[in-house]
Amino acid sequence: MPRSARQGLTNPWQFPQEAENEQFVSPSGSDLPIRAEPHGRNEDPEYIFMTDRNKRFNDLNTYLRGIFGCRVQKITIDAGFTCPNRDGTLSTRGCIYCNARGSGTGAYAKGLSVTEQLVRGKEALFKRYKAKKFIAYFQSFSNTYAPLEKLRSLYEEALGTEDVVGLSIGTRPDCVDESVLDLLQGYAEDHLIWIEYGLQSAHDATLVLINRGHDVRCFTNAVAETRNRGIKICAHVILGLPNETRAHMLETAETIAQAGIDGVKLHLLYVIKGTKLESLYRQGHYKCLEQQEYADLICDFLERIPAEIVIQRLTGDPHRDELVAPSWSMRKTETLNLIKELLEKRDSWQGKFS
Ligand code: SF4
Repeated sequence: MPRSARQGLTNPWQFPQEAENEQFVSPSGSDLPIRAEPHGRNEDPEYIFMTDRNKRFNDLNTYLRGIFGCRVQKITIDAGFTCPNRDGTLSTRGCIYCNARGSGTGAYAKGLSVTEQLVRGKEALFKRYKAKKFIAYFQSFSNTYAPLEKLRSLYEEALGTEDVVGLSIGTRPDCVDESVLDLLQGYAEDHLIWIEYGLQSAHDATLVLINRGHDVRCFTNAVAETRNRGIKICAHVILGLPNETRAHMLETAETIAQAGIDGVKLHLLYVIKGTKLESLYRQGHYKCLEQQEYADLICDFLERIPAEIVIQRLTGDPHRDELVAPSWSMRKTETLNLIKELLEKRDSWQGKFS
């Protein structure tokens, strides 16, 4: 573990680091710019950013390489789950920024099994990154929201796939109970198991406004139930939620800093078609963050969370066909570079003020 960020306010992250790990792999395997490098060199701008030696935060790829000694890549899985905020249990409307696809890749609707999705993902990610090990990332909707036997069957199908060394399971904090956590705890004895809880904001008023259907207490309870089981905990946070100021977002950073979690994913709120947020945006009731503003907020956030928290994501990946605004959210590399430049300009890093 690098030396503490507290010691002399020095940047603990100056060693070779890599960029965001999660990679959407299309069910067809064809609509991503995944390509073999003709000269043994990868000239993808994101790859160049990834290998920058001066990145100033605790990134996921370096963390994974530290554990497994090789490039490890997440493969997104759409296993056909739903969500209590969609199926009528809590609501049928969902969170105001979520469309009916629920971040799904569409692979389940195309009839692809977990194994088939993993095999395609492995092939594509080996070509692109020379990845040798993989984490099955159950991403779409709420991936603990099903009977226990169904969960066991899906998770074990993934863990039984060659070179899959762990699971990452995206879910809501109100969709876990002791039986699910016991199941994951068993896997954690010989696999890397992450659970990803959507928090989004540490403000209950915001959670009501965005129709999350749970409060902050629900998140802190889920974290308390999950800790000390060998399961790694990641929280999802969204910057730019309606009515939130910089002060609100920094309070969320403080909550994350004290939550006792292992990782965080930071997302930009963008507007996608077919959502309540789209109506608000078109009526002039919601204004998107500007790119520079977002980069500033990310730096502020990173400075306030402990250096030990693994940063799994710094922005989102909107689908071009679904995006309404802001258009800059499609330019991910540019945003990542802005964040990097800003940290350098501030001479700052993750954990500087934590
Ligand atoms: S919890 Fe997730 S899947 Fe469910 S409505 Fe909200 S964003 Fe969509």
